[in-house]
Amino acid sequence: DAPVIAVDGPSGSGKGTISRLLAQRLGWHLLDSGALYRLTALAAMRRGFEFEDATALAAVAGALDVRFAGDGERARVLLEGEDVGLAIRAEDCGAAASRVAALGPVRDALLQRQRDFRRRPGLVADGRDMGTVVFPDAALKIFLTASQEERASRRLKQLKDQGVSANLPSLLRDLAERDARDARRAVSPLRPADDAIEIDSSGLDIPAVLDRILALARE
Ligand code: C5P
Repeated sequence: DAPVIAVDGPSGSGKGTISRLLAQRLGWHLLDSGALYRLTALAAMRRGFEFEDATALAAVAGALDVRFAGDGERARVLLEGEDVGLAIRAEDCGAAASRVAALGPVRDALLQRQRDFRRRPGLVADGRDMGTVVFPDAALKIFLTASQEERASRRLKQLKDQGVSANLPSLLRDLAERDARDARRAVSPLRPADDAIEIDSSGLDIPAVLDRILALARE
């Protein structure tokens, strides 16, 4: 099987950016597993499904017509042929994703789809349970964290760069809520795998984090 580097951690830890750059540097494939949960939430919202209906949502997840086209900065996400890259990044979609992600049948429906991303020469898998559930045999498992304050202010900067208005207190509150939901849920709660290496990225810049992971990957 092709080697996997699992990069797990809470939202705003920088794992999305780090995973993308890591895949680029290694010339490996990238799995953005959060996008699959966001796409499931978006497809369900568009069909008017209730977030409590685990069976219907699992069917949506299993039948997702999604294509990831291109890579790097210009990566596009197509849902039923429509570019939904912006829609799935919105805050409401992230919050909805964390609700559908709490449903066991939805997680089961997405399991094989995630494993199908594993191809030569290798895969960088970005998520919450890459090292614990989806790729327990990953060659390297990174658990990336950062303080809540740091993660909220990174998100604020990202939104400002996109011209979206936001304020720190409400971002902090949303982040804390989502962290709590991700950590307390019954299925695949967010936690580092026993053999994961934890990196706290607070106060580290992107190249520093990337270099540490590349050094670990070479070991
Ligand atoms: O990483 P991202 O913010 O895109 O993920 C959106 C939501 O999807 C997270 O809040 C989390 O609840 C869920 N998720 C998950 N397992 C993954 C990836 C994301 O439960 N592997």
